[in-house]
Amino acid sequence: MSASLDRAAWALVLLSGFPAAPAQSQTPPPSAPADQAHWTDRCADWDEWDKPGPPFRIHGNSYYVGTCGIAAVLITGDSLADAGHVLIDGGTAKDADLIARNVEALGLRMSDVKLLLHSHEHFDHVGGLAELQRRSGARLLASPKAAPVLTSGIAAPDDPQFGTLDSFPPARVDGEVKDGEVVRLGDLALMATTTPGHSPGALSWQWKSCAGGDCRTIVYADSLSPISNDAYRFGDHPAYLAAYRVGLDKVAQFDCQILLTPHPTASGMRERLLKGSLDDPAACRAYADGIRKRLDDRLAEEARG
Ligand SMILES: [Zn+2]
Repeated sequence: MSASLDRAAWALVLLSGFPAAPAQSQTPPPSAPADQAHWTDRCADWDEWDKPGPPFRIHGNSYYVGTCGIAAVLITGDSLADAGHVLIDGGTAKDADLIARNVEALGLRMSDVKLLLHSHEHFDHVGGLAELQRRSGARLLASPKAAPVLTSGIAAPDDPQFGTLDSFPPARVDGEVKDGEVVRLGDLALMATTTPGHSPGALSWQWKSCAGGDCRTIVYADSLSPISNDAYRFGDHPAYLAAYRVGLDKVAQFDCQILLTPHPTASGMRERLLKGSLDDPAACRAYADGIRKRLDDRLAEEARG
């Protein structure tokens, strides 16, 4: 199901368009409106985590199936060939039902979701995975650092927000995914990049999505914001900081035509939808630059005591 590919090989994959996303005809047609305007209407006060929002097509075979305030992304495969779909993130425990209903509103079956992936291992993004796993029977892949958090439902002691995070229903982790690994499901291929900072086990994802010959590289970049409990100081953890900056550099350098984030507000998703296009080839760099500034401000604040 998964295979390792180094970054140079992955760049070639993206450039050459192989493996391409399934052709449009292989994606089951949505049986409900999946237009973006529907979502911007419904999610006008859109940052509420558990507020239901309708699903919409991001591009090609990639769909937003999250709530108004928390993203979940479905990438559809060729279910006729029994390969199935990939779902990234499960929202809060309460959001699992909303996400499953959004998948079904697209005319798709939860039982065709074969693979579950995650951004960062906090209750607002992975709290619903156990229930989504129960409904789909899908395999869940996690980063080595996130895996024990997902199986226990309790944040790791080295998480900057340790002690302030809600626990959540434990899920079954079926395999680990490492930095630079390409996860494959049928014709789908998604590259994982470890981007620690907001949490130790955070992953960002990159894949290619085509509508006919019209292709986009989509990046689902993690939150990456430097938030912590009152006692934690990022400056006290040089190794963590170094890994944090490496991840930010990778995000900045991503080939990235459409940027999505676990909290849609963080990347201005609604504003872009209202402007009529999610496309912004400069978005990943701007996003990483914004986080770097926040991190530098935070370190300066810590140094001032
Ligand atoms: Zn969050």
